[in-house]
Amino acid sequence: MKTETKCLHSGYEPKNGEPRQVPIIQSTTFKYDTSDEMGKLFDLESSGYFYTRLQNPTNDCAAAKIADLEGGVAGMLTSSGQAANFFALFNICETGSHIVASSSIYGGTFNLLGITMKKMGIDCTFVDQALPEEELAKVFKPNTRAVFGETISNPTVSVLDIEKFARLAHSHGVPLIIDNTFATPVNCQPIKWGADIVTHSTTKYIDGHGISVGGAIVDSGNFDWMAQADKYPGLTTPDDSYHGIVYAEKFGKLAYITKATAQLMRDLGSIQSPQNAFYVMNGLESLHVRMERHCENALAVAKFLNENENVAWVEYPDLPTDSNYELAQKYLPKGSCDVLAFGLKGGRDKSIKFMDSLKLATIATHVADAKTCLLHPASHTHRQMTDEQLIEAGVAPDLIRLSVGLENVDDLIDDLKQALQSI
Ligand SMILES: *Cc1c(COP(=O)(O)O)cnc(C)c1O
Repeated sequence: MKTETKCLHSGYEPKNGEPRQVPIIQSTTFKYDTSDEMGKLFDLESSGYFYTRLQNPTNDCAAAKIADLEGGVAGMLTSSGQAANFFALFNICETGSHIVASSSIYGGTFNLLGITMKKMGIDCTFVDQALPEEELAKVFKPNTRAVFGETISNPTVSVLDIEKFARLAHSHGVPLIIDNTFATPVNCQPIKWGADIVTHSTTKYIDGHGISVGGAIVDSGNFDWMAQADKYPGLTTPDDSYHGIVYAEKFGKLAYITKATAQLMRDLGSIQSPQNAFYVMNGLESLHVRMERHCENALAVAKFLNENENVAWVEYPDLPTDSNYELAQKYLPKGSCDVLAFGLKGGRDKSIKFMDSLKLATIATHVADAKTCLLHPASHTHRQMTDEQLIEAGVAPDLIRLSVGLENVDDLIDDLKQALQSI
């Protein structure tokens, strides 16, 4: 099946007489006839549902659809994108581990890696993702356990050279984890380019309508944990909390997601609700149609801004003049995303006046939504960062992040025009 068809049909196949749409299994618990059957579930000896903190049928349908779209072997939902990225890393890192991450990642993930995980004794080196391979290779250490980046970075819309990062990760015997939130599996499937694990904030395009926070993790099944057994004891040595199971031996290609579910979700409990999993499932059905329109509208808006005399600069990977254009053409030939970054002549004050003058586009801490929205990272999402950190992360203090929705594009351009005139 092609992507568009998978959006509609993967993850849930009703049998004769069953509901056409995935049922919302709004139940915390599941009943068994014998004590022995329930016991086997707790030993991971047979598969089945027993408590929604670990697994729920509605969640599993949505996770299976995302996994199929990404070309992975298994997936899981989490309560947020933050939880997805934390679980994806913490599943293979522990105190004393080291991570290599692009410095251009989403502010929330930057804090997670740079501050919160550091308190757990997990160190991170942030790198400029545009550096040549030889330079990047220098930051790896014997205790490096993962490489992390975003297909398209939020909010600087830089495109990651996934093949370069996959080569780097694999030549150092560690997996590449890619946050594919902005591209979605419709516009890019990082596993095809060598990524081992893919994460999502489903809060963005996958939901698409601003109604539910959520995350997802997909495993390609390609990374050979046993070949790097000394690096990943959590997967390759007995788990005392499951009677000494060795995940990589018992579950093969499903080891990574099984451990994340059976161990991390059991102990940390950042599970998605079945109701929200239903919204995820529903959002995925129209994802391919929405992505096409988002990209078409965003390109038209980017061209308009690029030609406006009040605009100092525009970054949008699909503009032929953009520094990311070549990488975008390679990894995102159908279009990148609906987010563009720009700055106005006159800097910060003008930006704020411009934003307050908009009538249709709304100020919201959100992107990738059906309705157009925008924000000023230096005043909002990234306000805890120093100017130095902002510039290191490629976020200019005058940067406005605009997420172009599904409205009629002429109405959007008219709104931008009147706000630009007012400054
Ligand atoms: C929003 C976002 C996150 C965090 O996701 P939440 O669902 O808000 O927790 C992570 N990565 C990227 C690229 C994002 O845009």
